[in-house]
Amino acid sequence: MTGSVTLVGGGPGADDLITVGGARALAEADVVLYDRLAPHDHLATLAPKALLINVGKQPGHHAITQGAIEQLLVEHALSGSRVVRLKGGDPYVFGRGSEEVIACQTAGVPVTVIPGVSSAIAVPAAAGIPLTHRGVSHLFTVVSGHAVPSESELQHLAGLGGTIVVLMGVANLVPIVQGLARYGLGADVPVAMIERGFSADQTTTISTVGDAVTDAASARVGNPAVLVIGEVVRLAYSGDADASALYERAAALSL
Ligand code: SAH
Repeated sequence: MTGSVTLVGGGPGADDLITVGGARALAEADVVLYDRLAPHDHLATLAPKALLINVGKQPGHHAITQGAIEQLLVEHALSGSRVVRLKGGDPYVFGRGSEEVIACQTAGVPVTVIPGVSSAIAVPAAAGIPLTHRGVSHLFTVVSGHAVPSESELQHLAGLGGTIVVLMGVANLVPIVQGLARYGLGADVPVAMIERGFSADQTTTISTVGDAVTDAASARVGNPAVLVIGEVVRLAYSGDADASALYERAAALSL
């Protein structure tokens, strides 16, 4: 009998930010495929019956290709297992979740998706930064920085006037920030770079469009990080471990 595949959004890393539905799917799973950003510290407890397969990048090892992950999902399901594909954040936010759904559908494997709390929203919140605030920003745009946005995208982002959230943006921080500045985003617009959200060493660097490149270099900002560009950064409150410095820096930017 054919099993099934459930794509579970594992949330941004905190154990208590996986959904009730996601935890239930894990509890019933025979096989779990997880990767680096998916919360996996307590996976053996959450999925006690399951064979746990790490399909993420390991230092010194090659990452398993997307095609191989899809093949594993399909093979385990076709052999009758209840398979959970545990992904970081939400499966449909830059997570290639839809590719995995299509692969299952093509193979005739029943597939469902349990949404998760996306780091795009949750990681800024962990640093006390709201993405919207009445009178400050009534929109936010979530952009992948994996590739540098096109000139036209940079122009529109700079002109939109809301909050810009960049995932996977550390490697391309320079062209992204400089591109936005080139299309008129002010040098004093605040920027927050939040690294390793929800981990014990979560770190927030507060800067501005004008200083972000230098500040990121001196703070050695690295992956994984969420960048927040916009006036809402001034609202950062003392919500996390390194909050007092953050709060002082954000308050100095005052609205
Ligand atoms: N599907 C995921 C995003 C996948 S892209 C989601 O909805 O959250 C991977 C990027 O997400 C990382 O490069 C980083 O920008 C961001 N990210 C995910 N978890 C994070 C965390 N705990 N702290 C900081 N950034 C994180």
